[in-house]
Amino acid sequence: MASVAGALRRWALRRARSGATRSNLPWSFLSTSTTGAGNDAVSEQIGQGASGGEKAKTSAGSIPPPIRVSLTDSAGRGVFASRAIGAGDLIHTASQPVVAHPLPSLLSKVCYYCLRRSSGDTAVLSDSSCSSSRYFCSDECKEKSKGFLEIESTSSWSAYDTHCKERGLKYPFLVKRLACMVVAGTVSADTLDILQPASLHPDMLPEMEAEYELLKLAFVEADLEEALISFLTKQWFLGVMARIRINAFRVETVGGSYEDLLDLASSSVVADSAVGNAVYILPSFYNHDCDPNAHILWIDNMDAKLKALRDIEPGEELRICYIDASMDREARQSLLYHGFGFQCRCSRCLSGD
Ligand SMILES: [Zn+2]
Ligand SMILES: [Zn+2]
Repeated sequence: MASVAGALRRWALRRARSGATRSNLPWSFLSTSTTGAGNDAVSEQIGQGASGGEKAKTSAGSIPPPIRVSLTDSAGRGVFASRAIGAGDLIHTASQPVVAHPLPSLLSKVCYYCLRRSSGDTAVLSDSSCSSSRYFCSDECKEKSKGFLEIESTSSWSAYDTHCKERGLKYPFLVKRLACMVVAGTVSADTLDILQPASLHPDMLPEMEAEYELLKLAFVEADLEEALISFLTKQWFLGVMARIRINAFRVETVGGSYEDLLDLASSSVVADSAVGNAVYILPSFYNHDCDPNAHILWIDNMDAKLKALRDIEPGEELRICYIDASMDREARQSLLYHGFGFQCRCSRCLSGD
């Protein structure tokens, strides 16, 4: 599948998720129950696909997108086609990640809220209330940032930020954003609990504990009410990091319009168009395949588009490729096992390709 491989190289994903052990999670409610917080979160995400951002060809108007989340035979939950989907169709848009953050090196060039790149010729709405300049693409994004920004601005982040930047760490910035959102009351502290956590190697713990201490210190020094930061335990930090590690997407915007995407798939690759990282709920339910029938991409901001790469039958599982599908079998197997925690048994791998 050279053409698929080419398309995937274009938007290579740097993400990981374990497909190995999900039996400890109550995924069954996703398909069997109509109540419960987790199911609401999924329904909400699916609803956003129909109403948020660009309208899907297959889900115009109020028709929900052609997907359902339910259990798979082997890999826990997955996303399935609820009706036929045509090659190239936009399956749905996930326009609202739980948490997103620009790359720390791009704060003056990428919208602090929606990850849209500055075009350079528009007025930069930088936030003058803090020492480091941040770019906002619009007043709307600035308005939507108000909650977490107010909390963020009450603390001094220089120790935390420097620590993370020096080590090239990106995920702690997502945790910081999430913690500020929790303190601001815009999300609940357990909002990522529905996602599969990575198993953290004991070697990682001292580093993460150091990050936790710095994060905690920033909030403690901000003199916030004790009750507001009571969620901020080491256990919370590690739990969030474990989920971010294998569910965060590296957001690479491709520019252009949805109609251009098929053309873009075969055009030359921009070396590094990454603008930030984001964690979504519904896109995290897509399982992996080295010969996927769906792909996730971003056009100009954090709105994630799920696109069908070929005709998909009703009931067929939708799968994306977590890695660069152009790699050979051995490299894919190794990366998926060591980075993502599972041994790939997709039909392409089984065929030896
Ligand atoms: Zn924006
Ligand atoms: Zn495979």
